[in-house]
Formats: sequence, C-alpha cells, structure tokens
Amino acid sequence: MTVNLLTFVDVPQKRPDKRAADLRSADFEEIFNEFVPERAGEQAARCSQCGIPFCQVHCPLHNNIPDWLKLTAEGRLEEAYELAAATNTFPEICGRICPQDRLCEGNCVIEKGFESVTIGAVERYITETAFKNGWVSGPQPREERSQSIGIIGGGPAGLAAADVMRRYGYQVEVYDRHDRIGGLLIYGIPSFKLEKDIVERRADLLAASGVVFHTSTEIGRDISFGDLQARHDAVLIATGVYGARDIKVPGVGLDGVVDALDYLIASNRNGLGDAVPDFDSGMLDAAGKHVVVIGGGDTAMDCVRTAARQGAKAVTCLYRRDRNNMPGSQREVSYAMEEGVRFEFLSAPEAFLGDGTVEAVRAVKMRLGEPDETGRLKSQIVTGSDHNIEADLVLKALGFDPEPVAEVFELPALDVTRWGTVKTRMLTGETSLPGVYAAGDIVRGASLVVWAIRDGRDAAEAMHRELETRAEQNAPIRAAG
Ligand code: FAD
Ligand code: SF4
Ligand code: SF4
Repeated sequence: MTVNLLTFVDVPQKRPDKRAADLRSADFEEIFNEFVPERAGEQAARCSQCGIPFCQVHCPLHNNIPDWLKLTAEGRLEEAYELAAATNTFPEICGRICPQDRLCEGNCVIEKGFESVTIGAVERYITETAFKNGWVSGPQPREERSQSIGIIGGGPAGLAAADVMRRYGYQVEVYDRHDRIGGLLIYGIPSFKLEKDIVERRADLLAASGVVFHTSTEIGRDISFGDLQARHDAVLIATGVYGARDIKVPGVGLDGVVDALDYLIASNRNGLGDAVPDFDSGMLDAAGKHVVVIGGGDTAMDCVRTAARQGAKAVTCLYRRDRNNMPGSQREVSYAMEEGVRFEFLSAPEAFLGDGTVEAVRAVKMRLGEPDETGRLKSQIVTGSDHNIEADLVLKALGFDPEPVAEVFELPALDVTRWGTVKTRMLTGETSLPGVYAAGDIVRGASLVVWAIRDGRDAAEAMHRELETRAEQNAPIRAAG
C-alpha cells in the first residue's frame, strides 16, 4: 500500500477526542477516546521521518518511533506493534501516562510551527489494536532454566524485569506488600489517567506465563531479605519511594490535613470496590468539601482532579512557584483547569487553622528571586500578603523520599546515596552486594513509569548476563548474603 508521508504541512495535529470537561469530571473513566483507525494512520503519516529522530533520543526507552509511525501510516499494525513492543514492555501504559510534552513529543522537530506528531496516542492505539486482535501474549520462554529470581515490588520496574527474565526462561517470583500487583499504577495513578483493567491485563499475562506473584507479602516483615537470598539466585529491589515529605507549619497535625498518597490510595481502592473505612467515614472523601492541595507535581494534579470528580465544593491548588516552574506535566495542569480547579500560583501555606479539624489554610504570596544552587529560582515571601482560604480537606503533595532500605532489609553493606536511594552501576542496576540488583524509583528517587520500565529491563539484562557467566564458570549461583 502506498501512502503519503510527511504530511505535517497540510494535515493539522489532531489528538483522539477528549471528553467534555463537565462530563469527564463526573466520573473516573479515562478522558481520551481511542483513535478511530483512519485518524491514527493520518496522524502517524504527519511524521517527517527524521534522519536523527529527536523523539527517539528523548524517549527513555529509545523507542523506534519513526518506524512504527510509518508502519501505522501504511496500515501494517501487527508489525508496528511488534516493533513498539520490542523496546517497551508496556507501550499501552506509556502511551497513556508518559508526560509526552517533556519527552518524545516535546522534542519532535515539527513541534515548532506545526505541532508535534501525536506519538503517545499512536503508541496506545497500536497496542490496543494488538490486544483486540490477540497479537499480545505474555513472555514465552524457548527453554526453561532452573535458576530463579526474586523481585521485591510489583510496580512497573519489577514487572518489566519479570517480563524479560521470564522470556529468558528463568523462574520468576514477585513479592509485593500490596494485595494487588501494579504498584503505583494501581494504587497511585487515578483511573481517569490509567484504567485499572489495563494494568490487570498485563499482570494476568505474566501470571499465565509462569511468573509467580506473592501478594500481601512484605519483605523485611513477612520474609527476611536473607531468606529471600537463600531462595533465589539473584534478587531485584524495586520497592519504589513512599516516604511522604511533610510541611513544617503550625496546624499540620489537625484532622483533615492528610498525605496525598493516603488520599489517592483510598480513592483507587474505593474505585476497585474495596471496603475503605476512612473513605466510607468521609474522612478521605472530598465530596461536598473545600479542598486545598499543596504542591505542583503530578501527584498534586492527580489529587485536584480526583477531588473534582468526588464532588468537592471547591478545589484550590497552592503552588509556591509560577506555572512555568511547575515540575509536573503542563498538559495535566490544563486538564485540571478545564475541570474547574482554581490555581493559586506563587502561594504557600503559612499555617493550617482550626479547632481539632482544619477549617482554613493561611497562605502567603511568594515572589521569585535569584536562582539557588540547583539553578531553580528561590521563592521569597511577599510581606503583608497573608490571606485565608476555606478548607475542610488539605492534601499534602510535596513529593516522596525513600524509606531507609538498608535498615528495612537489614543490609548494612548495601550502599545508598545521600538521598537514601540505592546506589547502582549505571545501566545494570548492580548494587554493592553481589547478586542484588535495584531498579526504578528506589534508585532514581520519585520519577516516571517509563524510567522504571527502562531500569527494570536494564537490570534484567544484567542479571541474565551474570547468571549465564556464573553458570559457564560453574560458580556458585545463589545470591551471596
Ligand atoms: P512502584 O510503582 O512504587 O512499585 C513499588 C512496589 O513495591 C509497590 O507495589 C510496593 O507495594 C512494593 N513494595 C515496597 N516495599 C516492599 C517490601 N518491603 N516488600 C514487598 N513489596 C514492597 N509516572 C508517570 O510516568 N506518569 C504519571 O502520570 C505518573 N503519575 C503519578 C501519580 C502519582 C500519584 C504518583 C505517586 C506517581 C506517579 N508517577 C507517574 C510516577 C510513577 O508512578 C513511578 O515513577 C513508578 O510507579 C515507579 O515504579 P517502581 O516500580 O519503581 O515503583
Ligand atoms: Fe513517548 Fe513514553 Fe512512548 Fe517513549 S514510551 S515514545 S516517551 S510515550
Ligand atoms: Fe517523526 Fe517528530 Fe520523530 Fe521527526 S521527531 S521522526 S517528525 S515523530
């Protein structure tokens, strides 16, 4: 089939249809509809097939984007899927929730002047088409190997590693303290960005291919790290980061001032049909409340948009810098604005006011000054600018730090960085302990799903190389304690 490529001069960018803000903020379903097939091909054909594709350079997985766009434009969707799946374990997930404006699409050369190719939406389309047509399968090892791998954490890093190792034929067991597999894909990210059956479908494929999941099993509590090492030939730490940063202002201990992730987990569990006492009692439900969210990252955006969907009376986001300096995706900010969220940029909380339960946030205005040592502009308080914002639920979304992993796992010889993340060799995930690897947020600090996938894949390749070498040398293969 002959198709016209490089059509970006004549064909405008069109994303899949976005549901109207008043409709979508009344439910938790994803906000974008699927591309219709003609639209996907038409949009893929806008790609100018660059000799040096900057989209690919800036994709953490270095996806072969121009080639799968070309195949999509030509209607060769099965091949497009195979190519997309060759470098990305979960293309349908990245297509939905990567901050494409900061990664592939933000670096697409036609962005300047013609608006980027809709790479994420095409990646999602290709993979959803593959699922519909039965082209997607779990890992299918050509041979079984007797060596086994223990993975702590069933988030994207752990699952990406499980997929690669199972393909090689290793016996793979994943341990997670939660009762479902998926990590933040299930319990952090709201379903209006990523519906839960999308994640469950992948976990089911891995289970069907022989990956064993031990849910509700916390390493360091239910099983010691030492016991895990005795069970497996190599161990991967993919435990993410969960230490919520706090705000040191008066009133932070009042009822109704809660951590963002506790709130999001309650909302996600409620959506999954679980009994959630703190949600059912109204404590973690924003319905009918004045909600104030502190922070400007992806977690803050998920909170404001969840509160809007739960039927909050008013939702305000307080962020100490301006819009251009927000760490999260600008697209998410626009969606939140469309959904009725009020933003107070250059504002910070000075105190939480109330008698036992929060009733208001006293906020002050900030101005941006000189850059600090990291290059970010320092924010300074504008004197006399304090004002009260009514609030009966305050959500603290200030980021996450790692739990003290060496202590939790009783591994004094495990090297960690000064930020508490696990120190690894670049591109291999090898830690200071033989046979012990690490991947994802526990290595990078709070990051992105696509980086977790990349790290999980890299660590798995390195584990495979080590296990093969040890087997060839007849060296003891169990992870050293
Ligand atoms: P996680 O996904 O955190 O998984 C770690 C798993 O380890 C968890 O299931 C945990 O239960 C388990 N675990 C921890 N300790 C133990 C133990 N001792 N024993 C057993 N199991 C254990 N990224 C994006 O790319 N796009 C987004 O839109 C986006 N939105 C986000 C929204 C929110 C609210 C948050 C919090 C993060 C968001 N992120 C987003 C970031 C992304 O979710 C993370 O970067 C990614 O999930 C990290 O993957 P991981 O596998 O390293 O860790
Ligand atoms: Fe873009 Fe993410 Fe897909 Fe890479 S994985 S092409 S960054 S959407
Ligand atoms: Fe196509 Fe844009 Fe990538 Fe160039 S940068 S190959 S135009 S998607």
